[in-house]
Amino acid sequence: MFEKILIANRGEIALRVIRACREMGIKSVAVHSTADSDAMHVRMADESVCIGPPSSSQSYLSIPAIISACEITGAEAIHPGYGFLSENASFVQALEDHDIAFIGPTAEHIRIMGDKITAKDTMKRLGVPCVPGSDGGVATVEEALTVAAQIGYPVIIKATAGGGGRGMKVAKTEADLEVAFRTARSEAKAAFGNDEVYMEKYLQRPRHIEIQVFGDGKGSAVHLGERDCSLQRRHQKVFEEAPGPCITPELRARIGKTCADAVAAINYIGAGTIEFLYEDGEFYFIEMNTRLQVEHPVTEGIFGVDLVREQIRVAAGLPMSFGQDDLTINGHAIEVRINAERLPNFAPCPGKVKVFHAPGGLGVRMDSALYAGYSIPPYYDSLIGKLIVHGRDRPEALARLKRALGELIVDGVDTTVPLFDALLEEPDILAGDYSIHWLEKWLAEAFA
Ligand code: ADP
Repeated sequence: MFEKILIANRGEIALRVIRACREMGIKSVAVHSTADSDAMHVRMADESVCIGPPSSSQSYLSIPAIISACEITGAEAIHPGYGFLSENASFVQALEDHDIAFIGPTAEHIRIMGDKITAKDTMKRLGVPCVPGSDGGVATVEEALTVAAQIGYPVIIKATAGGGGRGMKVAKTEADLEVAFRTARSEAKAAFGNDEVYMEKYLQRPRHIEIQVFGDGKGSAVHLGERDCSLQRRHQKVFEEAPGPCITPELRARIGKTCADAVAAINYIGAGTIEFLYEDGEFYFIEMNTRLQVEHPVTEGIFGVDLVREQIRVAAGLPMSFGQDDLTINGHAIEVRINAERLPNFAPCPGKVKVFHAPGGLGVRMDSALYAGYSIPPYYDSLIGKLIVHGRDRPEALARLKRALGELIVDGVDTTVPLFDALLEEPDILAGDYSIHWLEKWLAEAFA
């Protein structure tokens, strides 16, 4: 087992990894920018290294700075968290060259899944069902028109290098296609430095259902059921739950096995998420994330496993500590993402937190790097915490969430808590009856 791990991240996810290390008797090293000297992850780790100025590109994304921090502190492995360098194949390659272990999949798997066209081709070959669409990239408007005529409108044009909900454009009719196609390409070029796009049928009322998989890198893999992440704003998740309200045990077993078999076949190592749109009883693959997800705690809640511990184990060459038959679902879990943002426009709201009180009690988990007196810097993501609740069933989890939100105090900055207070009064949410378009529609009406 490793003796010391460096965490190439900040905020709540850095704490999440430090906690797993501490329970495993592993020393942790935090890295931070000059803007984060007072951050909680720096205080909680055993050691810390300043790796650069506030801008992420010169700190949390700087491969040389992070490798130097490893060499200075003698850390043998790096956990990337999510975001930043977690899905950067060149980073993983560089670590290999420096003999530092990466707690995550191989550079090759990151590369395959990071290009959505290659990912879709690979999944199709492995027997995973995909959204009908173009065969590979679409280079011209004429080609786009031909594909759209074949699959039928509406269509969505997506960047092969896309991520974070960016670089997607919908064309409802033939008249919209040319503009959508050109805009998608130029946005993809600007955001990702790659203007290659592909097309899919735009599904009208799907749910976002993702399957958590875990592989040992030696041809064995399991699935840990699904998460329903359909409540999204601008294609970004805000509320996630497991199990999915519309997924039966039979459906779960079928799609779960398809996913576990697919990753086993490529000797995938560590945690991964295979994302689908689900409509009328059918699953359609959209992408695979080769890392720990923000919403992993809902899966941990219902299965009672520690996914970070497991990631560290397999990266150190140990076998997984559970097999498929050890994994049974217990109850229901929900996570809400609490951002420092001002409603109704969700404008980022950094600043000083005067009072912070985290909710507690049975079935409540608050993953947050806040503390009273902390100043949320303006340079990074606005996620300031995740509130996760677990109950014996969905109604109990919903009641617990309402109770826990009532206990949470973040004084000094605006947060997205009022959004969740309001959502918990909505009959559709209480009934679990929502698609990926529900929240945008609701927001348009609620704040009209
Ligand atoms: P990203 O990598 O940017 O997150 P994804 O491919 O995972 O992009 O898609 C993000 C979200 O965009 C999905 O959860 C869904 O809400 C929407 N979306 C993507 N593809 C389609 C599609 N074919 N039809 C309808 N909505 C889609």
